[in-house]
Amino acid sequence: MFTKLRKWIFNICSECERPAKVSRRGHRLCYDHVRASIDESMREFEIAGVDAFFYRNNAGRLAESLADVRIFKSKAELVQSLGESFNESESELIPEINESTVHIKFYTYDNRIGWPTHKVTIDNYGLVGFTNKLPE
Ligand SMILES: [Zn+2]
Repeated sequence: MFTKLRKWIFNICSECERPAKVSRRGHRLCYDHVRASIDESMREFEIAGVDAFFYRNNAGRLAESLADVRIFKSKAELVQSLGESFNESESELIPEINESTVHIKFYTYDNRIGWPTHKVTIDNYGLVGFTNKLPE
């Protein structure tokens, strides 16, 4: 058995004994346990009758991208958040961001985390991130 501290030092999943891949809200988790925690949240939303989905930035490695995964309840909410992050980034070139320039389309099934992965793209800009669902 690993103590919590040993797990932290050796980067081991806090729910099992495998190597951790993702650091999320102070917990280090393997992909299976990240997936389990995402699945659990999705079930809670379904029970509550909320049409929610997860969004992760296109940030190089999957682990880094999952550390900052966010929940949205509609495409409109995601579009608003994308607009805000572009404004905060102080980019000199900001694409036009609204419901008709942001597109969400099925891309591939990601076995690592069990996401039916959808690409999020902005016209005249390109890929910004991925969702685990096509919002209604
Ligand atoms: Zn684990």
